[in-house]
Amino acid sequence: AKLDGKDRYVVYSSHSLENMMEEFRLEADLREALEKNEFVLHYQPQINNTTGEVVGVEALIRWQHPEFGLISPGSFIHLAEKNGLITRIGEWVIEEACRQNKKWQEAGGRPVKVSVNMSTQQFLTKNTITLVQDVLERTGLAPEYLVLEVTEYMAMEYDSSFLVLEKLREIGVGISIDDFGTGYSSLNYLKQFRIDYIKIDKSFVNEILHDENDAIIVNAIISLAHNLGMQVIAEGVETSEQLDFLIRQNCDVTQGFYFSKPLTADDIEKSYIRPQAP
Ligand code: C2E
Ligand code: CA
Ligand code: CA
Ligand code: CA
Repeated sequence: AKLDGKDRYVVYSSHSLENMMEEFRLEADLREALEKNEFVLHYQPQINNTTGEVVGVEALIRWQHPEFGLISPGSFIHLAEKNGLITRIGEWVIEEACRQNKKWQEAGGRPVKVSVNMSTQQFLTKNTITLVQDVLERTGLAPEYLVLEVTEYMAMEYDSSFLVLEKLREIGVGISIDDFGTGYSSLNYLKQFRIDYIKIDKSFVNEILHDENDAIIVNAIISLAHNLGMQVIAEGVETSEQLDFLIRQNCDVTQGFYFSKPLTADDIEKSYIRPQAP
């Protein structure tokens, strides 16, 4: 494992024996992390490009490991998907995100939607619907303040996804396609499924000013989404030049380091949800 000084994240870059041993260790620790309350959610603001106001926050999980420090999801979500723990971790994430959002609302904060990442594996289980209903009931959060982020891969299980999405529409929660354009390539599902938002992956946003092909793709994704009645969220926006480009292309919402990196619940509350007058 390599410790990145700035973020104190553990990052795995190769499959050396040492890394395999540590991955083994992590997987063992992961089984106890829920009981030990070691997960936390950070939140990254999503800014409406027309009004400049925060309209949503994406919940991003981190693991506060007693020895390794704060571990990024890139280092453990794949393990949790492999050993099935992702279901229980995913349940915790939805519940915590909804509970936090309701708490902000009760404290008089600006109403925002909270977006939660869902593994395809978890999304396709039968109890997704019951889980979402139960969590909304337990936390008292109104359904329009929850958005589930799923990837194109869910469309590979067309029938089960269709049923889950229809039920979620009845409940009233939002659906977002994450990492759009990086996975499953058929676009057929877009016209059948009820989808509210398309998220342009940061790999496209990265080079929009320098790579004409990326600019063309981003442009096409935005028209496609708008013509199908969906809104577009660009992720990984780091510079004002990228933001200006996206605004000129009528992108609806921006998320990225240009506005803010993911923040703790307290920090995002202070800066975005209940900002103090200067
Ligand atoms: P994602 O859903 O595509 O989330 C965006 C990632 O990009 C986040 O990394 C975020 O911190 C990072 N990011 C945001 N703005 C910028 C930017 O301007 N520049 C750059 N270079 N990066 C930016 P993070 O938090 O490490 O999450 C990585 C991935 O882990 C997420 O990618 C998501 O797929 C997964 N993940 C995170 N939380 C959860 C969770 O609760 N459940 C599941 N199943 N997956 C999660
Ligand atoms: Ca996401
Ligand atoms: Ca993702
Ligand atoms: Ca992404």
